[in-house]
Amino acid sequence: MSRPNLISKLPEDLRVTPNLADYAEQRFAFSWKAAQAELAGLPGGGLNMAYEAVERHAKNGFRDRVAFRFLGTERAREFTYLELSKQTNRFANVLKKLGVGKGDKLFVLTGRIPALYISVLGAFKNGTVVSPLFSAFGPEPLMTRLNLGEAKVLVTTEQQYRRKLEKIRAQLPHLEHVLLVGEADKPAPEVPGTKSYDALMAEASEAFEIVPTQPEDMALLHFTSGTTGTPKGAVHVHGAVVTHWVTGKYALDLHPNDIFWCTADPGWVTGTSYGILSPLLHGVTSIIDEADFDAERWYRILQDQQVTVWYTAPTAIRMLMKAGAAIAKKYTFPKLRFIASVGEPLNPEAVWWGKEVLGLPIHDNWWQTETGGIMIANTPAFDIKPGSMGRPLPGIEACIVENDGRGRVKIIDEVDKEGELALKAGWPSMMRAYLNNEEKYKRCFVGDLYLTGDLAKRDKDGYFWFVGRSDDVIKSAGHLIGPFEVESALMEHPAVAEAGVIGKPDSTVGEIVKAFVSLKSDYKPSEELRLELLGHVRKKMGAAIAPKELEIVPSLPRTRSGKIMRRLLKARELGLPEGDLSMLENSA
Ligand code: ATP
Ligand code: MG
Repeated sequence: MSRPNLISKLPEDLRVTPNLADYAEQRFAFSWKAAQAELAGLPGGGLNMAYEAVERHAKNGFRDRVAFRFLGTERAREFTYLELSKQTNRFANVLKKLGVGKGDKLFVLTGRIPALYISVLGAFKNGTVVSPLFSAFGPEPLMTRLNLGEAKVLVTTEQQYRRKLEKIRAQLPHLEHVLLVGEADKPAPEVPGTKSYDALMAEASEAFEIVPTQPEDMALLHFTSGTTGTPKGAVHVHGAVVTHWVTGKYALDLHPNDIFWCTADPGWVTGTSYGILSPLLHGVTSIIDEADFDAERWYRILQDQQVTVWYTAPTAIRMLMKAGAAIAKKYTFPKLRFIASVGEPLNPEAVWWGKEVLGLPIHDNWWQTETGGIMIANTPAFDIKPGSMGRPLPGIEACIVENDGRGRVKIIDEVDKEGELALKAGWPSMMRAYLNNEEKYKRCFVGDLYLTGDLAKRDKDGYFWFVGRSDDVIKSAGHLIGPFEVESALMEHPAVAEAGVIGKPDSTVGEIVKAFVSLKSDYKPSEELRLELLGHVRKKMGAAIAPKELEIVPSLPRTRSGKIMRRLLKARELGLPEGDLSMLENSA
């Protein structure tokens, strides 16, 4: 279906006045220093994530507001800002009593249960560095991360511990304390070599004086998704909270009465920056669903919890699309006013799907584990160009550069020209290091530019368009082909649920384009459909860019965070080594 390439916003599309109402003027007037001054800062000096997110609200008029509503599988549990303050104080006291101090590392390996959120925020209060782990990791990735991060404390559950950690415990030389959280309101049973989280919490005081932290003190260690290779550990500091506040305001447009739902797990940076910190900084209520994805359940949450702002990912949207619009039609979303997505390119088809099925277009935004927060976004006041990631937020300078790969870059001034996306270094949530990999970290910077490793282009209106990761771009007969464009064209065919496109070496043209697609539930693979898809994309893209080969597959390989792994499609196609598979979904 052919659609317009602009979704204009009319005043009646906006239920509240957007925080970023005048893009040019607010960008011009913006300074990080002024933004930081809008946060409280620690009494007596310094900056602490948990003070800004919890403590300052618990002391004022927001104290009785609901901070988190956990939707358990059986019942919901709520924590007001005041309650959250008390619980996080208790946890900070637990750490202190165990002799865990500032700069020590705490890892968390649980589902999305209250103890995860309490221990992360409590650790910040104690100056302890936090690294949340995705609960589906197997023993190998856990051991790598716990050792690389020199974990001193681990908060986990009995099940996780018994299944994955008990047998590797002897190989975790830095790990001094394992705290087991009870399940279903029962304290964890005694397990040798562990302590009871619940018993320690029950004994601890509700009063705690936050350990003074400075903006440059390390706060978080986050591992990247492993889409392009072995995951890297990105170090973030307490000062990042300024970006979390600014981006919650401008990119997610949070207003005090919002009900916000970020579907990302805190094991990934989105789930910490926007599933924990940013909504708290704005004093809003966050919904946290402990259960896994289920289309019907998700629509019900959006409806029954009266979610106003929803932050999700292309992989989830594709799954909802795959499940069909009929399920969505059973629900209504009168309170929903803004939907945003991050993690992978958002195909235009998905933007429109939002408008048609949920009543609102989906707003794509772009950032990375390394950037710590949203950098480029479509915000409520912007007209959307479906397929574009939007424009740089206030405080962010983005450009397109030509990178010779040998430390020389040249800024490309022309519009619509592809090159590497670069950001002017210096925003507060920029990573401060790749843990134990100084050399790789240094290679990300040239002069005052941070090089993202993604290819993009900028149009005449200042919108940025994602082309592909630099590793994934295809060179065919003198053309540079971004997989995203080809995948988006395939997605426009009603049968296609997901598409992954790679370059396959060819002696004549360098590389030919090969596509892998999976089908929506009501379509069956056939040779006829395969040829129809090839014809469809050739008509859209022209013969030079369209795939020469196309294979229908049951599903595409994805990272545990839901991203299509093109490097794996390619390795398998070419019979090459598959590389680091620890982040492959469904791997042990
Ligand atoms: P690794 O660095 O280990 O290969 P990763 O890059 O997938 O994994 P993340 O930091 O979770 O790890 O993801 C950031 C990357 O995700 C970006 O560099 C970009 O390639 C992709 N991405 C995120 N948001 C978008 C978006 N809106 N459009 C296109 N790509 C996006
Ligand atoms: Mg990356």
